[in-house]
Amino acid sequence: ALQAGIVGLPNVGKSTLFNALSSAKAQAANFPFCTIEPNVGVITVPDTRLTTLESLVKPQRVVPTTVEIVDIAGLVKGASKGEGLGNQFLGNIRATDAIIHVVRCFDNDNVIHVDGSVNPVRDKEIIDIELQFKDLETIEKKLSRSEKQAKSGGDKEAQRGVEILKALKAHLESGQNARSFEVTKEEKEKFLDELCLLTIKPVLYVCNVDEGSVISGNQHTAALLDAVKNENAEVIFISAAIESDIAVMESYEDRQMFLEDMGLSESGVARLIQSTYKLLNLATYFTAGVQEVRAWTITKGFLAPQAAGVIHSDFEKGFIRAEVIKFEDFVKFKSEAACRENGKLAVQGKTYLVEDGDIMHFLFNV
Ligand code: GDP
Repeated sequence: ALQAGIVGLPNVGKSTLFNALSSAKAQAANFPFCTIEPNVGVITVPDTRLTTLESLVKPQRVVPTTVEIVDIAGLVKGASKGEGLGNQFLGNIRATDAIIHVVRCFDNDNVIHVDGSVNPVRDKEIIDIELQFKDLETIEKKLSRSEKQAKSGGDKEAQRGVEILKALKAHLESGQNARSFEVTKEEKEKFLDELCLLTIKPVLYVCNVDEGSVISGNQHTAALLDAVKNENAEVIFISAAIESDIAVMESYEDRQMFLEDMGLSESGVARLIQSTYKLLNLATYFTAGVQEVRAWTITKGFLAPQAAGVIHSDFEKGFIRAEVIKFEDFVKFKSEAACRENGKLAVQGKTYLVEDGDIMHFLFNV
């Protein structure tokens, strides 16, 4: 399954947020290093389309789709040099597909800041620099091997690899992340993907704000927005304190009332999950039978057999064809039979590119 890792300095609210996400009540003490084990949470993706399908199909059960979120704690200044078990945490980041970078944007004298003051731009740079150091190590190792290869063979491709790695090294040394390095898709795949760089992973910034700043932000979020404006990254405002209050409320009505009082239409956790889904380049298709209405996660660009493979590898191997109804058509005509009668059920083959919201029915050989 695809995974996003939560990173950030100690005491910025990572575990509070993670706990709200997973509704697990693990410890969140006012103390750096309190969350040392990387925690993996499997989190349900909220999707109102499922509720709509449920009311039309009236299935026995409804199964939403999930993403995995890992709480990667313990990243501190000096982590790339092995401080505070830092190296281990950098390894945990390498295993994830995307990064959720939490920065503290709330003032509160009772919550100690590891660097003595609230400054999200500085905090973000501290984390970035640790990740960039680690990437530089990776690049230098690769570069010394590639240089030997380029010299001995006079090999054009190896020479191009060396050029790119040198340019990327300079880019990182100037304090930038690999994700903003300009390179063609082909050359990225050929020379960079194998390096599994940390700063090339897509990132979502989460500003943990005080309760009054969730809608329009504050001076800290303004500073952060300005600092990341060239990164092509999404920035969202969440109050971890509000989220942990909501997470313990038993009833849906109570939660909605609480949110409305705050002037919010949905919880920060719901927004965070949706943004993470986008960050991971994921899409959802549905299966809708009387037994079960279910959401399935695919990566954008999956063809019908690959999408079938998410249900079971046999579905992919034995794929014959798929019957596809667009979600909007299903809502309009209210049943599979009515869609079929109105020509809204398309029969698709192996090269069909599955779209977000497709309702699929696969036919396959066993
Ligand atoms: P982590 O080290 O980044 O995982 O940070 P924690 O989630 O453990 O939070 C550190 C401290 O800050 C705890 O005492 C939290 O209760 C507090 N805290 C976290 N988020 C907020 C918030 O949004 N507002 C306030 N006032 N305190 C928070």
